[in-house]
Amino acid sequence: MKPETLLYPAPKGLYCQTGDFYIDPVQPVERALITHGHSDHARAGHAHVLATRETLDIMAIRYGDGFCGTSEVARLGETIAINGVRVTFHPAGHVLGSAQISVEAEGARIVVSGDYKRRPDPTCLGFEPVPCDVFITEATFGLPVFHHPDDAAEVQRLLMSLRQFPERAHVVGAYALGKAQRLIALLRQQGYFEPIHIHGALAKLCDYYRSAGIDLGDLRHATIEGAGRQDLAGAIVIGPPSAFAERWARRFAEPLAIFASGWMLIRQRAKQRGVELPLVISDHCDWAELTETIREIAPGEVWVTHGREEALVRWCQLQGIPARPLHLVGYDDEGE
Ligand SMILES: [Zn+2]
Repeated sequence: MKPETLLYPAPKGLYCQTGDFYIDPVQPVERALITHGHSDHARAGHAHVLATRETLDIMAIRYGDGFCGTSEVARLGETIAINGVRVTFHPAGHVLGSAQISVEAEGARIVVSGDYKRRPDPTCLGFEPVPCDVFITEATFGLPVFHHPDDAAEVQRLLMSLRQFPERAHVVGAYALGKAQRLIALLRQQGYFEPIHIHGALAKLCDYYRSAGIDLGDLRHATIEGAGRQDLAGAIVIGPPSAFAERWARRFAEPLAIFASGWMLIRQRAKQRGVELPLVISDHCDWAELTETIREIAPGEVWVTHGREEALVRWCQLQGIPARPLHLVGYDDEGE
């Protein structure tokens, strides 16, 4: 079977007609396979959902127990047949529970990577390269200018600022699923064991990560009403980026605005958000990691989706690997 017959972009998302299922559909469908819990990939309202245990749990935390009609757990490495199409989930290294989905029929195997990264992450399983005929890669940071610095060094910059400005609350914006927990785990790895204060919007997901065995240390709620201005001087407070638009971030002692995101590489973005200390910490591959991954997997063909599709397509072609952009719509890298 030709790969483009096995899986192709349809208005609701990537569709497998033979198996009659979608992967990360952007509208409610009969049968959805979900790569990970970020809201642009995992939406509520599907009749049937197949995903890892963690992704299903995360969807239930975010949308409530009735987020879909019925659900089925996909165990990593275990093949499930859907109308004669073989699907297997493999770790993607993006956030807790994130998976690549391998779709196989009549001798053709396509791997949909969802979102992925290659760096070690204390909060999730590492990316596993899977040999395939077609590798569908994301391209969030798909330009040669994107280089993500060392995570530990970025966290050290935050710790140095704490020592330098002990009178200021260090208020960090980090996405609620993945980034916040990874930042906390990275701080612990760097030997920071003080209590870390979290916005209420992060509490359930942090609790869930802990229940999955990820040590986040001493976490305290930073949403106590009536907190005075001098509160949390010299402490780290983490909240979702949306909280910075509210009064929330301004209640702390001389708040120092920090944002942890791959996009902090772009000074203009940091400036626009009024970020004083941008931390470049990403849950996606940078350019070198994207191209190294394609070299390592050596697929017959590459399809590129969400992000800077054209540059990566061009790079593949220059390497002699057939490649094309998928032009899928509706993905906005929530976790970044
Ligand atoms: Zn994601």
